[in-house]
Amino acid sequence: MPNNVPGRPLILPVGLEAVTPAEVAADRIIARLHQAGFSAYRVGGSVRDRLLGREPAEVDVATSAPPAQVRQLFPDSYAIGEAFGVILVHGFGGTDVEVATFRLESGYADGRHPAHVAFSDAATDASRRDFTINALFYDPLRREILDYVGGLDDLRRGLIRAIGEPAARFSEDFLRMLRAVRFAAQLGFRMDVATRQAIPALAKEIGRLSAERVFAELGKMLRGGAPGLAFRELAELGLLKLWLPEVAAMSGVEQPEQFHPEGDVWQHTVLMLETMRAPSLSLAWAVLLHDVGKPPTQEFRDGIPRFPCHAEVGAKISQTVLRRLKAPRWLIDQVGVQVRNHMTFKDVPEMRGSTLRRLIARETFADELELHRLDCLASHGSIDHYCFLLDRLRQYANEPVIPPPLITGKDVLSLGLAPGPAVGKLLHAVQELQLNGELTSREQALEWVRGMIG
Ligand code: ATP
Ligand code: MG
Repeated sequence: MPNNVPGRPLILPVGLEAVTPAEVAADRIIARLHQAGFSAYRVGGSVRDRLLGREPAEVDVATSAPPAQVRQLFPDSYAIGEAFGVILVHGFGGTDVEVATFRLESGYADGRHPAHVAFSDAATDASRRDFTINALFYDPLRREILDYVGGLDDLRRGLIRAIGEPAARFSEDFLRMLRAVRFAAQLGFRMDVATRQAIPALAKEIGRLSAERVFAELGKMLRGGAPGLAFRELAELGLLKLWLPEVAAMSGVEQPEQFHPEGDVWQHTVLMLETMRAPSLSLAWAVLLHDVGKPPTQEFRDGIPRFPCHAEVGAKISQTVLRRLKAPRWLIDQVGVQVRNHMTFKDVPEMRGSTLRRLIARETFADELELHRLDCLASHGSIDHYCFLLDRLRQYANEPVIPPPLITGKDVLSLGLAPGPAVGKLLHAVQELQLNGELTSREQALEWVRGMIG
């Protein structure tokens, strides 16, 4: 069947069942648009993912109906990209579906925003999309797939291919280079040769993208499948050093073989990314950045590399990196805590009870524990300290990790101490002894304070 006749799609009689609530909602929306005389399809990632046997995260609908008509047909809707004709439709099966009018975008002077948007037809709408596998349309009423750009062939061959001339398409929106890397890694696909070859010469242009878009895309890369592969590819294509020069600097930074048989700092980090499964966003960034303090702190003693204070230095660098990317405050803080403390896990068996309890009580503890496990697995391989901490967690399962205080400020004052900073210090000392198991009752605590006041 002809594949490349402009405007004429390859039509495949294939039914793609609506499984997720979003797919069910999309198909009901499409049926109503059809009734009103418009054409409408499921499009993009949801068709791609369904064909690959993956659960689509969200479903987009493309239609010939102009935005005003979409609003009229679906009163419970609002415009989210008026200029682009994108309408969010509510209330069909409880999920929101983006309904976008077929469009053509042109005049990308800045490499990220089109100057003109015109409404168009399905063929034109397919051609403005980024990759062939992302431009498939599915008509649930006729039960057929429409392929204007050879997307089905590429899906079968496992190829990420730009629609049209790769350099021109990347120059319209430089984010597409990062998307190409993400989709290839996430789907286990290769990049088409011409698509991949166009990237190195344009790589530095991603510096012109907004921090927010880059941050969102890197987050998807970190949390999607195969982040290790994605980041190796970013480095290889010259895409890493623009936004993350501190991460690119880890490559070639030698480590002591005794603790790190896996190789240099970059190889160690990539191995952790490869081992990580379904991480939270903050764990994923912490894995990427946990050793970012090593390149600037490396020194050699007797020919063996050491990295004094790299965790502390790394925490500061992590914060600089994430601020540059305009990451939210909570993420900057959580990653900072994880990076700053990651080396303390080597000391857990020797820690005082109070220090251990405070460590376990930290908001970021679950992520920190996993960061530590990944760090071990990607180096010496021993998870003794991880298991030690699991034992402790079991021990604390039926009691609060930080128990309520044995005595209060009022108690201390009633023993005759004048109000002032000494009260707080005494209370802190009592809590320390309590967490260490050295004071176990209110009476003991009062007795101890009496002794201190003398
Ligand atoms: P996922 O949501 O799993 O990351 P997706 O393919 O759904 O993958 P979205 O970012 O949700 O990706 O975009 C939906 C569709 O819009 C894409 O499939 C693609 O057709 C088109 N698209 C998105 N971003 C771009 C872009 N920067 N340039 C061209 N087309 C794009
Ligand atoms: Mg999507």
